[in-house]
Amino acid sequence: MKYDYLPKQDPAVWQIIKAEEQRQNDEIELIASENYVSPAVLEAMATVLTNKYSEGYAGRRYYGGNYNIDDIETLAIERAKELFSAEHVNVQPLSGSPANAAVYMAFLNPGDKVLGLKLDHGGHLSHGHSVNFSGRLYNFVQYGVDPESGIINMESVREIALREKPKMIVAGFSAYSREIDWRGFQDIADEIGAYTFADIAHIAGLIAARQLDNPVPIFDVVSTTTHKTLRGPRGAIIMCKEKYAKQVNSAVFPGMQGGPHNHITAAKAVAFGEALKPEFKEYAGQIIKNAQAMADEFMRRGYRIISGGTDNHLMVIDLGNKGLAGKEAEKVLERIGVSVSRSTIPNDPNPPLNPSGMRVGTPAVTTRGMKEEEMKLIVSYIDRALGNKASEKELQSLKDEVKKLCYRFPIPTK
Ligand SMILES: *Cc1c(COP(=O)(O)O)cnc(C)c1O
Repeated sequence: MKYDYLPKQDPAVWQIIKAEEQRQNDEIELIASENYVSPAVLEAMATVLTNKYSEGYAGRRYYGGNYNIDDIETLAIERAKELFSAEHVNVQPLSGSPANAAVYMAFLNPGDKVLGLKLDHGGHLSHGHSVNFSGRLYNFVQYGVDPESGIINMESVREIALREKPKMIVAGFSAYSREIDWRGFQDIADEIGAYTFADIAHIAGLIAARQLDNPVPIFDVVSTTTHKTLRGPRGAIIMCKEKYAKQVNSAVFPGMQGGPHNHITAAKAVAFGEALKPEFKEYAGQIIKNAQAMADEFMRRGYRIISGGTDNHLMVIDLGNKGLAGKEAEKVLERIGVSVSRSTIPNDPNPPLNPSGMRVGTPAVTTRGMKEEEMKLIVSYIDRALGNKASEKELQSLKDEVKKLCYRFPIPTK
């Protein structure tokens, strides 16, 4: 990283940032929700746009001097519309959870019934978990995946929907590796007159690159983070049909938020510009090829993958037959410089703090330029580490191998 002022003015902060850059460069990132943004996205975030207050929307701001901000926000909106074939886009949400809060506020009243996927089956906290605002404010009922196949059974979703008659159905997940039947969800919602809400936080990049089906033309409203497979800054957007534009905008501001983060809006515009390029399509395709190569190699080595494989960028692995649980696997792998996240498996016998599985994904390693061959290598490191978790010597030698692999594929940086 090249910075002129920060290292001299505040070495304490600078050293921590440098240490984190080193860690990101030396270690393998398999956390499915993470990625590395481009230097151009980094640069857009570090701009004077952070200095400006811009409550309101383009042409209708509550502060003067916003003509440039109007331009950047409009550009981000136009690019997002093109990327997702959206009728209306709001680019102001600060992150995924606040975006979802705004969606609920736009379509529901507190106490309304909503149908979402169970957290331990791959849903997100903001889809009705009891400790989250969503579970406290709204009356969530939940569907799960089929216990045998690990796949969402649309017939059972339909049964629950017809019985419970929710006002909204939420589809979209944090830990589910199969294609989602958007049309099937919409058909069920049409039978009971429910709103459809897709949260594509994890798979937005794959959808933008047309590697997975796009719910935006089908569903009433869609939210996504911008920092996962979409490879933009930490933030979110909401897309909806034109007829809901006003209520969605009012829910974001003044409903949920004050001023938008304009430097982040600029970085979103840059990321959307990158995602519109042909190279991004290739990138997204490679993410999926890498995930499938990784899943095959895990299964070849006797690991059980929920649903038996993957159609997207991630997989959830049940470690039950490997003699350890998710938390220990996370710790052992951290010692060799491989980051994964512990994960619940459907109907997990263990508690959420130490669930039975781990979730891995390929967006970050694919950004580094790694391909199928490196995926097999990474799985071999993981397998050796988990099988030799008590051997200091083996773990140290694996850490060296991980570092060597990483040096062949540097992270994009400034
Ligand atoms: C990551 C994620 C979110 C939350 O995003 P934050 O930016 O961390 O608030 C919401 N929904 C889903 C499905 C996610 O995977």
